[in-house]
This record gives sequence, structure tokens and C-alpha cells, in this order.
Amino acid sequence: MAKNTKYDVLFEPIKIGPKTSPNRFYKAPHCNALGVERPGAQAYFRSTAVEGGWGVVNTEYCSIHPESDDTPYVSARLWDDGDVRNLALMCERIHDHGGLAGAQLWYGSKHALNYETRVAPRGVSQVPSDYVPYQSCTTMSKRDIREIQGFYVAAARRARSAGFDLVNVYGGHTHPILHQFLEPFYNKRTDEYGGTLENRARMWLETLEMVREAVGDSCAISCRFGIDTLRGDLGIKAEEDGIGFVQLADHLVDLWDFVIGNLEWGEDAGPSRFFKENFQRPFVEIVKPHVSKPVVGVGRFTSPDVMIDAIKSGQLDMIGAARPSIADPFLPKKIEEGRFDDIRECIGCNFCVSRWAVGAARIACTQNATAGEEYRRGWHPERFSRAANAEADVLVVGAGPAGMECAVVLAKRGFRRVHLVEANSELGGSMRWIPRLPGFGEWGRVVDYRKVQLDKLKNVEVILEATLDAKKVREYGADIVVVATGSHWAEKGINGATHEPIPGADASLPQCLTPEQIMVEGKRPVGPRVLVYDCDGYFMGSALAEKLAREGHAVTLVTPLDQIAPFTQYTLELPRIRRTLCGLNVHVVTEHTLDLIESGFARGAHIYDSRKIATWEIDSVVLVTCRNSNESLFRDLEADPDALAREGIRGLYRIGDCVSPRLIADAIFDGHRLAREIDSANPAVPLPYIREYRVLGRRDAEYDAVLDGQKVEARSSQIRVSISK
Ligand code: SF4
Repeated sequence: MAKNTKYDVLFEPIKIGPKTSPNRFYKAPHCNALGVERPGAQAYFRSTAVEGGWGVVNTEYCSIHPESDDTPYVSARLWDDGDVRNLALMCERIHDHGGLAGAQLWYGSKHALNYETRVAPRGVSQVPSDYVPYQSCTTMSKRDIREIQGFYVAAARRARSAGFDLVNVYGGHTHPILHQFLEPFYNKRTDEYGGTLENRARMWLETLEMVREAVGDSCAISCRFGIDTLRGDLGIKAEEDGIGFVQLADHLVDLWDFVIGNLEWGEDAGPSRFFKENFQRPFVEIVKPHVSKPVVGVGRFTSPDVMIDAIKSGQLDMIGAARPSIADPFLPKKIEEGRFDDIRECIGCNFCVSRWAVGAARIACTQNATAGEEYRRGWHPERFSRAANAEADVLVVGAGPAGMECAVVLAKRGFRRVHLVEANSELGGSMRWIPRLPGFGEWGRVVDYRKVQLDKLKNVEVILEATLDAKKVREYGADIVVVATGSHWAEKGINGATHEPIPGADASLPQCLTPEQIMVEGKRPVGPRVLVYDCDGYFMGSALAEKLAREGHAVTLVTPLDQIAPFTQYTLELPRIRRTLCGLNVHVVTEHTLDLIESGFARGAHIYDSRKIATWEIDSVVLVTCRNSNESLFRDLEADPDALAREGIRGLYRIGDCVSPRLIADAIFDGHRLAREIDSANPAVPLPYIREYRVLGRRDAEYDAVLDGQKVEARSSQIRVSISK
């Protein structure tokens, strides 16, 4: 097929100071919670993106000195030669694949928690952190300023020694000290480092100059700059100090890396629920005309047409991406090869962010189950080995996210026949209707991507509107059976707060509704006053409250938790959820249980003082209390192993919510994991993976032998009846 030249502009090399990127794809600095403590995982995760076509790949924020320690959150570090050695592996692998490696230098000042080092941070002015309210800093003297600048220079030299091509002097999201000097919100100084823009910019400009002098012949200098902190007159506005700073610093940088926002960084890593692709364009367009150096920007770019428009219109010179590169490390290659329908588009759920934000949990992705598993499990996002038992026929019952993922991977592993059987008329399980919640449209990509893959795989047959009981499954003719029947929302209000049903809660009554009844069956609340009871704490309660409020209901959102949707603080959605519900006049009641539902009335109590009774005059209640697994089919099958053996079924497994209701990403991972390891000795139990931690006397080769051992085990595994627990 002739190559489509329309996208050639994305594959033009671009000069960045003394370096040249092979193309316009820039994997922006982003956290992965791998740091220098997991050098293998770090190197394989980042370099896989270069293999997939990203021209420049950066570290996450990289601490330049023990004074800037973000424990329990994981940053990379350039404190000493040990860190240099560990990050050198990442650079080596990036260079092997023909890309450029960038290190993002960070000194967090009062925002760095320093839980590990216990050092008091130095800062621009002694006012408490707006991120860690109990934490402040020592106001820097001029000698302190020189010392901190010396830390930057030393870290830049270490970055060069590790093999990095770009040194990113970071000043975005108001997190680093350099930005805190620039922004009046933080800078209260009256000396030559405070007051006018020129004075506030002085620290950053001097640092850029010193870093450039130290490594500028051998490394390009990039600068991540928060061009608008969205704080109005208190902060940096694109049209004022945004333009002003780039005019002052332009001669000192080789590449501008623009972001927006402040420590509420969901405004930069915007979730799709509230932000559309390329949402930062209006800010970039204000500042870009004032620089002479190439500019990279972000905005959840997944569409090749939006990318070429951004380049051709002059908005950007390079396409920056964190999340789209996590969801599909091979996105550039797929564009280059015209394989557009193979692009695994990011859904903007920010589950990846949550893994870092909870502290020390490694990167993971809803769309890409292999993210973070490249080294420790040896999984490649695009390569699948032929299964040792590929001659078997596999039946997957249930085509939700876990079942679809499992069927795709089984088929890619070369199984002779994979049948994916679904009781409904559409694929997707809960993801058939979740994308119809307000703002959730992009989540539909979970189903879209897998549906395209299933359509392409000739060894998969998808059968819809077929309900299988245990007898039908046994008689189906499969050698291996995977049950992926999902979960459902509880109908009697059983919940995590009381572990009991709620008296009066019964979804068979007109005034009680479950999420599925609203979204799938079209059941409507009785009357205008609706109480949404959310014990789940993720997106469902707030999304239904928003939907019903938009439909004209007077909504009260009650939760026993201390804030609404607490998990969404990790996905960066919470501030926008609160603003949205506030704007829709949803009455929010936290720290209250719901103990009784009667006609026209509901009663609850404060969780810390049960004497404080609350009553609400309402017409209907939506029960977002908990989910239960649809496990009866699996239980029926496992109850009679002899019957399975008689029908020639050698393995019975279950995956996803059918095992335990969980996040979509974890359900997909579960389906993927089983398919990757379906030819191991006991696929129900995950194979061991490489644990990167210090083992006294252990050599590198012994870590790698863990993976080699898995391969040997897979090759020699005996096929036997194996039932997952
Ligand atoms: Fe995108 Fe969600 Fe994956 Fe993050 S977890 S990269 S937001 S799909």
C-alpha cells in the first residue's frame, strides 16, 4: 500500500540545539513511580516508547539533591553516581532504538515532602505550601540561591554522564523552586529576586545560564514552563508574564516545553471527563509567537489529524504526550505505517496518574495492560509469543473489558479457535453504558479498540445474544473455558459502611434505582427529588448525580465517606467534579449513612455521632452502594470437576469483575495476564516477576534469570485440568 504522505510532517527530523530528534514525537516528562529504584523497569518502560517511534523520551521529575525528596511519591533522582548508573540503562536503551533521552531537573522546595531525608527545604519566601499545608521553608539567602543553582549544575553534569541528550530545566505546575521564584503567589521578596518580572525571573535565568555553560555543548537545554497558572492576577497569565518570561529566557533554551496550571494539575493532565483533545491550544497560541525556539506542548493528542494540524498551523513544533504514549507506546509507528485503527487511544481516565498519586505504586494503564510490565514480566505491547497449547479451543464467556482483552490476547498468541460468547446484543459489558454518562464518551475507546482487534483476528468468533448455563458450557466443545461474566450493582443497598442492606432499599420498587437500571433499562426516578447514595467513592455516584441534575431533578448526594468521590483525587478529577456539582446545585452531604428508605422520606446518621440523625424528603433513591460478582456460572462449573473432565475441558478460569469487582484497568489486566500465561503450569496463579530490590549478594544476571525461568517453564508446562481459585 502506498504510504500516505499527509502525515509526513510528523516524521520530519527537528534540531534541538546540538541534538536532532528523528521526528516530532516527544514523550513528555511524566511520573511512572519507577524512579532510580527500579532501573530495569524504568529503562524498559521508557525505551519501549522509542521502539514505538517516539523521538524524544524523558524521565519523570528528577530530584537534583536530597533537599528535594518527594517520598512517598516516587521521583527519579540524580543525587550521586549510583543514580547515574541506574539511569544510564534507560539512556542506553533509548539510544539503541535511535531516540533522544531527556532528564527533567527538579528542586521542589516547600512542596517536596522530604519524608525520607527529613531536611528542611529552602524556598523563595517563608509562606506555607499550598500543597502540604503544614510545611513551609527557610527563606533563601543569596548564598542559598547560589548553592541551589550549584545543585542544578551538578545534576545536569550527572545527567550528561548518564547519557542524557536533553536537560530539562523544569518550572511547570508551580512545583519547582524556579517557578516559585517567578510567581508572585509564592515570591514575596523585596531584594533583586522579587518584585518586577525581571527580578522574579532572575533565579531561573541565572540557573539556565549556568546549566547551559556546564553542559550546553553536549546536551540540549529544554525548559518546561507553566505558561499560565490559571490563578488570575495572583499567578502567571499567558498574556502577561507568560510572554514576558519567554522573551527573557528564549536565548538560553533550545526547546520550550509548555504546560499550564498549578498544583491542581488536573488542569494540565486534563481528564477526558472535562477536557477535550488539544485543550491547551488557546494558551500556547498566546505565547508561541514570542519565541524563536521550537515549542512542544501537550493536550492528550491521539488523533493524527489533530497532530498535523497543530504542527502545520504553527501551534507546535513537536507533539508532546504523556498519557497517549502510555496507552500506546507504538502510536507514532502506527501512524507512519497507516495502521490508524490499531491505535490504542488513551481514554483520559487518569488511572495512570492515580498509581503514582497514591504513593509508590508503579505505573499502570487502563488501555495498555503491559505498561510497567515490560521488564518485570517481559511483556511487550505489540509482540505475543505463540502459546505452547495453541492447538486448544478456548471459550470465553462474557465480552466485557476483561473478556474482550483475554480473547484478543489469546488470539494473538495463536490459539486455533477462540469463541467469545456474550449474552447481550453488544460487546462491552459495563463499558456499553458507562461512556453514556456525562463526559465519559472517550471511555468508549476501551470497547472500540478491542472490537476492531477482534474483527481483524481470524481465529476469533464473537457470538452475541447467547446465554450459556453450565451444561451448555460443558457441552460447547472447548478445551479451555474462561468465565468473564462481570458484576452488577447491589439491589438492596448492601454497602461497605454497614456491611448490611438498607431497610427499605429494593430496586424492584419504583422509587429505588441501580446505576444499570438508569443507564441500561431506562428506569426513571419517581418525582423530582432524588437522593444518590454513594458508598463506592469513584466516579459512578457523582456522574449519576450530575446526569440527574442536568435532567432537572433536585439531587442530594449522600456519602458515608469524608468527601465525595475520594478516589478521584488521585485521578485529578475531584476539583472539577466538585465545581460541576456545585454549579448544578447538587446538595452534597458527606460522613452520613443512609439507614432507612420510605415513601417520600429517607433517614440517616452522622458516621461519627449516631445521635445526629438526618432526614431527607425525597421521592427516589439511587443505590450506588457496591457491586457483586456475577459468579454463579463459574461456581456451577467448578462444583463438578469430573463433568468438566468428561467433556475434555482441561482448564477452567475466571477473570475480571467475576472474580472481584474492581477498577476497569485491573479487570483488563486480569484478562491480559491470564492469556499471557495460559500455557504456564497453573495459569490461575500469576507467574513470579522480577522484583527489583536489594538482595544481598545477588548479581544482575540473577534478576534476568527470573524471566528466563518463566519462559522455560512455559515451554515445558504440562497441560492438565486446572481450576482457578
Ligand atoms: Fe490514558 Fe487512562 Fe491509560 Fe492514563 S490510564 S494512559 S489516562 S488510558
